[in-house]
Amino acid sequence: MRYLKIFLFVLALSFALAPEMKLRRVQEDIYMVRGMDALPSLENRGFMSNAFAVLTSEGWVVIDALSTPELSKEFVDNLMKVKKAPIRYALITHYHPDHWYGVKTYKELGAKVIAHKNLLEFYNSGEARMALEGSKQRFGELFKSVELSPPDVVVEDRMLLKLGGKSFEITALPPAHTNSDLLIYMPDAKVLFTGDLVLNNRIPFMGDRNASSKGLLLVLQRIKSMDVKVLLGGHNEPMDMSAVDFTIGYTSFLRDNIKKLKEEGKSIDQIREALKNNPYSKYVMYEVFHSSNVFKLDSELDVEE
Ligand SMILES: [Zn+2]
Repeated sequence: MRYLKIFLFVLALSFALAPEMKLRRVQEDIYMVRGMDALPSLENRGFMSNAFAVLTSEGWVVIDALSTPELSKEFVDNLMKVKKAPIRYALITHYHPDHWYGVKTYKELGAKVIAHKNLLEFYNSGEARMALEGSKQRFGELFKSVELSPPDVVVEDRMLLKLGGKSFEITALPPAHTNSDLLIYMPDAKVLFTGDLVLNNRIPFMGDRNASSKGLLLVLQRIKSMDVKVLLGGHNEPMDMSAVDFTIGYTSFLRDNIKKLKEEGKSIDQIREALKNNPYSKYVMYEVFHSSNVFKLDSELDVEE
């Protein structure tokens, strides 16, 4: 009896912690699910990133695949309640697990997967498989049904996708958040899908080994010059251009200060210590990402000109 009580308590707790997936309409024909701000865990089912879907007269175009096939399946089930139509294309904003690992569901439904040419490279080199093995070991059961596959279409530079009256201008970017970032623009709606390039009041992860903070700043300036009403990112609520300024602010703050401290001859430990408390320490994910960002930018600045 006592064990049953404990069991029920733990069960109730895990339901309370597991975030529910609720499909929301962002605007006419554009839908999203909003993951929580956290690292992946068994408790949150890896539901810590967003996915989007655009309904066209010839079927759905989805943006990002969430962290697991279970989550992307739930996402698709929700879409089918809005409109039973095929998933025609799946655009993957970059190779990180929370954007790519649920891709199996889309493949099984016959969607054409579109990604940056470097995501194919990441897959072909065997690095993707090694990273998945690492994730499986680290997170146990969470990623057990993840199956990776090469994209069907790769973007080398630019690509225009048209389907059922809607256009998507897809740009493959030089290294920024990763070396596999896609920027996806819907010119008629003035909507821009930004993956993890833009974050609002949340500390970005800049620690990917293929990331470039210098490249990120160039991309962010480029975004600022675009005619955009709504930015839809891999995390956060729908954003406006002020989010770009937030991301530029944090990135420049780190780069400028690390540069200065290096010139003063400070060691990485001293730099870390000096940049521990700062105006950004109140933002979400600070504890998780800030320290590794400092470390990564320090080594980036070593090799820049
Ligand atoms: Zn990412």
